[in-house]
Amino acid sequence: MYIKEPRCKRCGKPIHSKEEEFCYDCRKGEFHYEQGRSLWLHKPPVSGSIYAFKYKNRRVYGEVYGKEMAKHFEKWIRMWEIDLIVPVPLYKKKQRKRGFNQAAIVAEELGKRLGIPVDSSLVIREKETTPQKELGQRSRRKNLKKAFRVVKQEEKNRKVLIIDDIYTTGSTIDSIAEILEKAGYEKIYFLTISIGQGF
Ligand SMILES: [Zn+2]
Repeated sequence: MYIKEPRCKRCGKPIHSKEEEFCYDCRKGEFHYEQGRSLWLHKPPVSGSIYAFKYKNRRVYGEVYGKEMAKHFEKWIRMWEIDLIVPVPLYKKKQRKRGFNQAAIVAEELGKRLGIPVDSSLVIREKETTPQKELGQRSRRKNLKKAFRVVKQEEKNRKVLIIDDIYTTGSTIDSIAEILEKAGYEKIYFLTISIGQGF
């Protein structure tokens, strides 16, 4: 089941009522990205499917997710005027072990279907970070400090779409949005396969 209204105007999480504009996390924090959307809530069967995709080598699922994103969010992506798609990178040791970066597979499929370039080497992950799910909000931010780096300077003033598998509090995506913004990119958006509940 796709996520329906009412949802947070920033991160897209489902929220209780139409009177609220933002979810709990977005009301609390300041963000560097503009806006983002996700296909599904992170609960069964979606959560199991993402788990198999990442840990049981079901790479083909990534193509299905990319296709779904193209179908459901093309309107948004055109409205945001996205010039470049950037997947959230894995630490290189982790990627070597897994054999692939799950976010890059989804990004490639989406880019191919919409004719938008994908750059999987623009941002790199320099630190192996503690899994975010084991940390609270403040520690998440700290954990991610200096975790990512923009390795090359593309043209400025471009609008970038970050792709990840799961959106929880948004700290990973926002850390990348922050460094892209500093590097001169104009506006940053995101899409993920799944997202947590907003209340
Ligand atoms: Zn939100």
